[in-house]
Amino acid sequence: MTSATLSRATTRLTVPEGSLYGLGNLPYGVYSVDGSEPRVATRLGDVVVDLALLLEDDIFASPSLNAFMAQGHERWADVRSSLRAALEGEVPATAVHQLDEVRLHLPVEVADYVDFYASEHHAANLGRLFRPQNPDPLTPNWKHLPIGYHGRAGTIVVSGTDVVRPSGQRKGPDDATPVFGPSTRLDIEAELAFVVGTGTPLSTPITVEDAERHLFGVALFNDWSARDLQAWEYVPLGPHLGKSFASTMAPWVVPMLALQEAKVPTPRQEPAPLPYLAAAEPWGLDLDLAVSWNGEVVSRPPYREMYWSPAQMLAHQTVNGASARTGDVFASGTISGPAKDSRGAFIELTWGGAEPVQVGGEVRTFLEDGDEVVITASAPGADGVRIGFGEARGRIVPARQT
Ligand code: MN
Repeated sequence: MTSATLSRATTRLTVPEGSLYGLGNLPYGVYSVDGSEPRVATRLGDVVVDLALLLEDDIFASPSLNAFMAQGHERWADVRSSLRAALEGEVPATAVHQLDEVRLHLPVEVADYVDFYASEHHAANLGRLFRPQNPDPLTPNWKHLPIGYHGRAGTIVVSGTDVVRPSGQRKGPDDATPVFGPSTRLDIEAELAFVVGTGTPLSTPITVEDAERHLFGVALFNDWSARDLQAWEYVPLGPHLGKSFASTMAPWVVPMLALQEAKVPTPRQEPAPLPYLAAAEPWGLDLDLAVSWNGEVVSRPPYREMYWSPAQMLAHQTVNGASARTGDVFASGTISGPAKDSRGAFIELTWGGAEPVQVGGEVRTFLEDGDEVVITASAPGADGVRIGFGEARGRIVPARQT
C-alpha cells in the first residue's frame, strides 16, 4: 500500500459523552505502537491521534515535544487552532489508534528539574511534625520566596514505570550510628509539574508578567520521597538521595492554552512579595486532584490552595540570571489543602506514621512493596466541559540486593 492510498482512508472522530478529553483539552503526548518510533500525539476521547499525520507537519514526527515547544507561544496557539479544526473534520485513519493499543512515553526530554514547596498547608504540616518546638510552623523565609531545590532530571519516568524501593543511609532516634538499607518510610508527593516551552539566555530573568509566554503546559507528577533517607541527609543542603531515585510524570502535557477557564486567584499573599515576585493578580489553577492507594481514594488535594503561583515560581528561579531551557520542568511541591483528606503526602495523612490509615482493608502508614499509587485530576475547561490530565501511576517493587 502506498502512502497516497493510506492517506485517502479517513474517519470522523466522536467524543464519548462526559469525556474529560474533548476538543477543549487536546493534551500533548508521545506514543508508539508495536515498537514503532515514538511520535507526538494528542488524545481525543479514548483515541490517540498522530499529529505529524493529522497536520502533515514533521515537527511532530519526533520522540518528544521539545522541538515543537521550542517554536514558541504563537506557534502553540496556531497549532491548537489547526488541531481543533482538523479533528472536527475527516481524520486520516492511519493517524488514529485506540488508547489501550499504544505505549505512552515520557512526553518531554527533561532539561533541568526544580521542585518547589508552594503549599502553605503542606509546609505548615511538615513544620509541626519536624519542628514542634517552634511557635510558627513556617520557616522565616517561607512567605518571602518560593522555596525550591534542584532535583534529578534524568530520573523522571513516565507513568506506569515501576519504582524500585531505594536503599540508603538513615539514622532513627534510637540508632546509635547510621544504618544502610531499604527505605522504611517511602512516601508520595502529589504535585503538578510545569513544563517550560521556551527558555532564556544566561543573565536574562523571566518576569512574572512574561512567565505565561514561556510556560507550555502542566502534567501530573509524583515526587516519591524516602522520608528516612531525607531526614538524615537534608541538613543543611536540602533533599538529595531521598528524592532522586525516581519521580513519576503523567504521559500527557495539558497546554496552558487549555487552562484559561481554570485560572483562579491565589490565596491572599501577605506580607506583599518583593517587587520581582509581585503581580497585580497572581493566578493559580483550579485543579481537583485525587490520590488512589491500591485502588482506594485516600486524598483529594486542591491545587487552588497553592500559595505561590506558577509565574512566581518561574520568575524566582530565573531572577538570579539562571537561564531557562526548553524542556525544563519545575514542580509545585506537595499539594495539600486544609482538610486531612486533602493532604498530598502520606507523612501528613498519617501524621508521621502516628495515625495509620485503612487502605483496602489493610493498615498503612508508608508504602509497602507491591503498593500502587495513582494520581488523577480534572479542571474546568471551555464550554463547561471538564478536562482531564491522564494519570501518574507507579507501583513499588522490592529493593535490589545491595
Ligand atoms: Mn516534592
